[in-house]
Amino acid sequence: MNIADSEEMAAHLLERGYVPTENLDEADLALINTCTVRDHAEHRALSFLGRLRKWKRENPARIIIFAGCAAQRLGEKLKKTFPFLDLVSGAKDIDQFAQLLDKSGLFHAEKAQTPAGQKSVTGYVTIMRGCDFKCSYCIVPSVRGPVQCLPSAEILKNATQKAAQGYSEIVLLGQTVNAWKEDGKTFADLLNDVSAVKGVERVRFVSPHPIFITPDFLKAVENNPKIARHIHLPVQSGSTKVLQEMKRGYTREILLEKLDALKERGFAISTDIIVGFPTETEADFQQTLSLVDRVHFSAAYCFKYSPRQGTPAAEMTLFPEKILEERLDILLNKVKGLAESAYRAQIGKPVQILMESPTKGRTSDNFWAQTCQTYPVGTVVNTEVLSVEDTLLLTRD
Ligand code: SAH
Ligand code: SF4
Repeated sequence: MNIADSEEMAAHLLERGYVPTENLDEADLALINTCTVRDHAEHRALSFLGRLRKWKRENPARIIIFAGCAAQRLGEKLKKTFPFLDLVSGAKDIDQFAQLLDKSGLFHAEKAQTPAGQKSVTGYVTIMRGCDFKCSYCIVPSVRGPVQCLPSAEILKNATQKAAQGYSEIVLLGQTVNAWKEDGKTFADLLNDVSAVKGVERVRFVSPHPIFITPDFLKAVENNPKIARHIHLPVQSGSTKVLQEMKRGYTREILLEKLDALKERGFAISTDIIVGFPTETEADFQQTLSLVDRVHFSAAYCFKYSPRQGTPAAEMTLFPEKILEERLDILLNKVKGLAESAYRAQIGKPVQILMESPTKGRTSDNFWAQTCQTYPVGTVVNTEVLSVEDTLLLTRD
């Protein structure tokens, strides 16, 4: 989501004469797009901002913009700690970013620049903003606001433009992306419509919520090979009790049903897990470990619970850091080999590789693969997996 938001903000800077650079020393402007989902993420953004103090002093004409979710949470008070900061633009204001730039008086009419040639095959299309859930640990609803679904006409226009620019993989984005709806239209309909756009070879989506893995969605997937056979589905915990306290809206049993349905349809599943939610007992933690054993995720991102000010869970008593660290270590050890075994399980299977370079690309289930021959970037190659090197499939083509 932040990549897509950054691209959107960068487009307004291109219109004002700026071009991107990898080199801070030659930059005239720094746009920092931030995350606040965990304290660590916010902390990193703020320490980067702190390091820009010297950069700004070297040339006071330089402009610094602090944007995104941490900017939304901390607001204008950031300027007290970082007086050299020029503009603060919260995540909710992304639609008004252009007006904010104009109102600031910092930008003068310059020749609009054309975007640099596309570097990847993946184009991001935001289909909804905000979140209507109230997971008790999560700050996202308060910094991004309630759900606003973008109209399908706008989404299709955006996807068509992206495909025409050569992006053959479209990633649909939203905090609960599969909750997208419009009068009479479901997320499944939207997946079918986007995959029918000329030039689109593959459609992915991030982040889905388990409760919207519906029969309607499963049917769409069965009939449409352009919908990727990989899903990043955050489970957060394997314990019904913790899931209820997290207000996730599903139990372990419902979750397992959904995960099994996805597996039956050939999906590789990656996930997010939070360790050390304040009420997590040893037995709850064991439930999470057993879920990991049972599901064989292709990857699992494990996060130490981070209290976020203003969320209901932040009022609960934390348990000792030592236990938290121990649990995280145990879980990390368990998930360490997941990717390797998921890769090994691909040997002998037919795969469709969307080429990202002449000899390398990703399969529909999101594994990296290397071909013997060369192919045009953005095309799909049908072949079979011959062998595996760590986390790279080698094919028979
Ligand atoms: N909308 C997505 C998640 C967005 S936040 C969903 O509901 O699945 C991305 C990930 O950050 C979450 O999946 C969760 O694992 C993690 N996360 C969110 N809040 C957290 C917190 N307070 N502490 C630790 N991890 C957190
Ligand atoms: Fe946060 Fe829950 Fe919304 Fe995901 S669904 S963004 S975890 S509140």
